[in-house]
Amino acid sequence: MKKPIYLDNNATTRLDPLVFEKMKPFFEEEYGNPASQSHCYGWEAEMAVKTARKQVAELIGADTQHVFWTSGATESNNLAILGIVKNLIYSRKKTPHIITAATEHKAVLDVFKFCEQLGAEVTIATVNEFGQLELSHLKQLKKENTAFISLMAANNEIGTLNDIESIGKWCRENKIIFHTDAAQATGKINLDVKKMGIDLLSLSGHKMYGPKGIGALYVNLDNPDVKLSPLMFGGGQEGGLRPGTLNVPGIVGLGEAAHLALKNFEQENEKSKKLRDFLIHEVLTHIPQAKLNGHPSERLSNNVNFSFKDLPADLFALGLSGLAVSSGSACSSKSAGSSYVLKAIGLEDSLAKSSLRIGLGRFTQKEDIELCCSKIKGLFNHI
Ligand SMILES: *Cc1c(COP(=O)(O)O)cnc(C)c1O
Repeated sequence: MKKPIYLDNNATTRLDPLVFEKMKPFFEEEYGNPASQSHCYGWEAEMAVKTARKQVAELIGADTQHVFWTSGATESNNLAILGIVKNLIYSRKKTPHIITAATEHKAVLDVFKFCEQLGAEVTIATVNEFGQLELSHLKQLKKENTAFISLMAANNEIGTLNDIESIGKWCRENKIIFHTDAAQATGKINLDVKKMGIDLLSLSGHKMYGPKGIGALYVNLDNPDVKLSPLMFGGGQEGGLRPGTLNVPGIVGLGEAAHLALKNFEQENEKSKKLRDFLIHEVLTHIPQAKLNGHPSERLSNNVNFSFKDLPADLFALGLSGLAVSSGSACSSKSAGSSYVLKAIGLEDSLAKSSLRIGLGRFTQKEDIELCCSKIKGLFNHI
């Protein structure tokens, strides 16, 4: 059976063959533990990890020693949020007030819920019709004990970009620690942690053509307010912040993925934007029942999200066979309810349920998008 065309690159991406090439030796002959200081197996692994750390740091404008390895963006988010909040709770007399947005990934929202149980004062901010948390709104939400804000750089369902730079700078001026979940954004928008006032940034290998099960957390150790409690204890790796033997092949893969993302940045995003805009234009001009969710221009180069009015769900599923797309976020597409992200931007239930996320990627061809367009148009021929 022919496999459907993969257009779900906001859920995960294919490992780039160039990344795999770089990883391979670290499964085979170069299997040393970077913590082994007494022989060349260890030294070689340590060198490879060092190179990868530099590659990831370069992608986000960070100092090399501020990049810490994790198992992915979920862990990075947990380490960033819980790490900061536990420290604030343990070390301060004031209850810390912490803010995030209603459209965040569950790997942020559920950590905030837990922080509330720990005693933090939590605000889940509403977003505008495009899914952005506006700085003006944030200013209204700020209290005298606001200590930490977590806001995603780009949304995984609707692709909306937040104005991270303005918010980061404002946080810095107000001595608020600022974390951004950049799992979707790394490699797609310019990220410069220093210029943007970012204290903590989460990223993930498998969203950027690297392997699954590896990610990184940037930690601004130059900011004396940024003090993280570790979530685990053990062998003291990563400065004790994230102990455990390093996943060397994964780290090498993430490093190479970061290197490729930076190298091909302009060209790849231009190509993706063209295809994205072609798809949006085709669907919106031919299908009056279609609505584009998210921001018309402030969106990821690889994300399209439509809702279709009056489209029965069974037709929807049938008509799109041959396309691997998502009707909701990958993590929640199993649950029957409609997307909380689409609800947060004001979509009524029926529209939210007839929504479609199309995630373009490095390996997407024009023909794939043309087929996608004709399949979507085909949905409405039967009505
Ligand atoms: C995919 C994703 C995550 C989770 O990343 P993992 O590396 O799979 O743990 C978190 N946040 C956003 C915005 C994502 O898109």
